[in-house]
Amino acid sequence: MYFPDLTPYRYFWGFRQPARNCGWLDARHDFAVGPVTDDFLAALRVLTAMPVVRALGFHVCNLCATDARPGFTDERGVRQLLGSAEIRAFHPRGALFAAPNLLLHYVEAHGYRPPDVFIEAALHSARDPAAHAVRLRDYEADRQPADEASLIAWDEELEADQRRYAAAASEAASSEASGIRADSREPER
Ligand SMILES: [Zn+2]
Repeated sequence: MYFPDLTPYRYFWGFRQPARNCGWLDARHDFAVGPVTDDFLAALRVLTAMPVVRALGFHVCNLCATDARPGFTDERGVRQLLGSAEIRAFHPRGALFAAPNLLLHYVEAHGYRPPDVFIEAALHSARDPAAHAVRLRDYEADRQPADEASLIAWDEELEADQRRYAAAASEAASSEASGIRADSREPER
């Protein structure tokens, strides 16, 4: 599942609080690489130990040459598969970011460097894990009731999004020489 960084998060239906995507990487799309601080990695481990949207299927890292499933063991010794859940990071100025828990693997194994605003949010959220837990609980509780019709509409919207992103990506590839970045546009609703 690929979403460009900082686009509106709509993958898992029903959360009322809007969020932005971060770290939904795919081998077919370029991503930012660069060094990150140990503080950020430590923050990411704290957030990874506090997953949301668990076990809704499994995302495999398709940047890896093998189909190995990366894991993560938190401070309490709890082992999690990366690719089986999501994480959230709250920015002190109010933005919320939604990332797959594979983000930790993308940073450690593939040199991915998330946008600065996500790094700020992760550092902020991990600074006080108890407060983060409360925010996550409130966030997860604030969901629209799921009914079949809206779930079907959601699937269709998601598919339409994916088609738009795919079209934008191929457009970007063909217009790279002219310096146009198709993924900098907001997706049309
Ligand atoms: Zn990988």
